[in-house]
Amino acid sequence: MIEEYGWSDRRQTAFAEHALAGLTPGRVVLQHRDSYLVATDGAELKAEASGRLVHEAGEIGYPAVGDWVALSLNPQDGSATIHAVLPRDTALVRKAAVDSTRQLQILAANIDVVFVVTSMNADLNLRRIQRYLAAARQSGARPVVVLTKSDLSADPERQAAEIAASDPGCPVVMVSVKQSSGLDALLDQVKPGETCVLIGSSGVGKSSLVNTFLNEDRMAIRAIREADDQGRHTTSHRQLVLLPGGQLILDTPGIREVGLIDAEDGLNTVFDDVEVLTRSCRFSDCGHATEPGCAVNAAIADGSLAPERWAHFQKLTLELAAAEQKAERVAKAAEKRRLAGQQKAYRASKRDHRGGLR
Ligand code: GDP
Ligand code: ZN
Repeated sequence: MIEEYGWSDRRQTAFAEHALAGLTPGRVVLQHRDSYLVATDGAELKAEASGRLVHEAGEIGYPAVGDWVALSLNPQDGSATIHAVLPRDTALVRKAAVDSTRQLQILAANIDVVFVVTSMNADLNLRRIQRYLAAARQSGARPVVVLTKSDLSADPERQAAEIAASDPGCPVVMVSVKQSSGLDALLDQVKPGETCVLIGSSGVGKSSLVNTFLNEDRMAIRAIREADDQGRHTTSHRQLVLLPGGQLILDTPGIREVGLIDAEDGLNTVFDDVEVLTRSCRFSDCGHATEPGCAVNAAIADGSLAPERWAHFQKLTLELAAAEQKAERVAKAAEKRRLAGQQKAYRASKRDHRGGLR
């Protein structure tokens, strides 16, 4: 049933012109290079993009996992042809440098929730979480922070509270796959028919979570790697999977393993060209206002940088700086509380000691 994949009246309306043209709706559940597997109301069909779509789409218009597409069916071999991609509600995008040209790659389309996954055993890095969150928010989906391996933390509640305080409004969920705790609370963040993805650094426990949700070991899928034409190894397996509770999880190694955003430069990955511009002004402390030799203003003037994109970059930079300042304040306050607690305990022990002497 196509509704299980998130089909709705709203999407039906968006599909009206394609329905008139006799096309069938479906959602891309797997991409393998140029081949797709598409879930339709009846069956899952193998599909390829039509020559016209390939010709006209450009990188952004190319079908990606999670996309809703318009199909024609080929009764001879039971396959299908993708003629159009419906406008995306949200998209996780990566800028990849391929042969020195910049290409946009849609990693996941029509996702509702981005789980920003980080582990509680190592020192929690608030800055890193904020950077992942900034990228998650750019996709248009709702971000949720997931703190894994709570069984390894001495004080998980305090760690979770610190993170919640650094970004009010963003849900924070603690989980332990080992102790099977917090998993229901995590899935409660995603409604049936909604789609979620997990992003985060390697080793934080994303695969373990996915395997637990699916009740099966999918390590074999991780092993599927193919050499691309340049002879480098890339992972080209993509999957959109229906969970027992009706939620969908979009689990692509492209997100999990290559790392959508290198934690240390989340913004830069999405805006690295703008970042480079801001560093090429004549004055190193250029405010990009009326300074002579400002590379940003020059790029806006010659049309190579869209004013909206610059505004977006500035807004996110400010948000990130504010979030980092806040994270630092929270971390300092926590350290102060910790020291105060130690002093109190120390004074109490001295008092007890004196008491004992009397
Ligand atoms: P990924 O790289 O983010 O997919 O991380 P993995 O799922 O491969 O997990 C990395 C390691 O963390 C593995 O050795 C897991 O067994 C371990 N791990 C995952 N979840 C938990 C947990 O809840 N508690 C503990 N103690 N270890 C965990
Ligand atoms: Zn400047």
